[in-house]
Amino acid sequence: MDIADLVQQAQSARGRARVPYSHYPVGAAVLTGSGKVYPGCNIESSAFSTTICAERAAIFNAIASGEHSFTALVIVSNDSAPPCGACRQVIYEQCGEIPIYVTGPDGQSQQEFSTSQLLPYPFDLGKS
Ligand code: ZN
Repeated sequence: MDIADLVQQAQSARGRARVPYSHYPVGAAVLTGSGKVYPGCNIESSAFSTTICAERAAIFNAIASGEHSFTALVIVSNDSAPPCGACRQVIYEQCGEIPIYVTGPDGQSQQEFSTSQLLPYPFDLGKS
């Protein structure tokens, strides 16, 4: 599994996004330590706080399937946006230090971040 394959899975997931309010579809795909890929897409709700981002959907999808280690995450959006603050916290807690690739709809010109770059001062109940 290379990053190009992961990008393709995220692009495919992006096509399944449910975004009637923002019209801002996002797809994600997370590669686990077992070598499996779990997709996620953003799903909006009219009660906005119950909306979920694509990357959290992918990570929770993997965890619900029994995965507990993560290798890489790809996020595809209109403008190669990095994860929101809530997702950065989830990536930190659930995935640890992994590469996070963000890219546009065509999957070209990926930008790579690490978890600690995106969340340099994480909240960690275990370390407080
Ligand atoms: Zn988010």
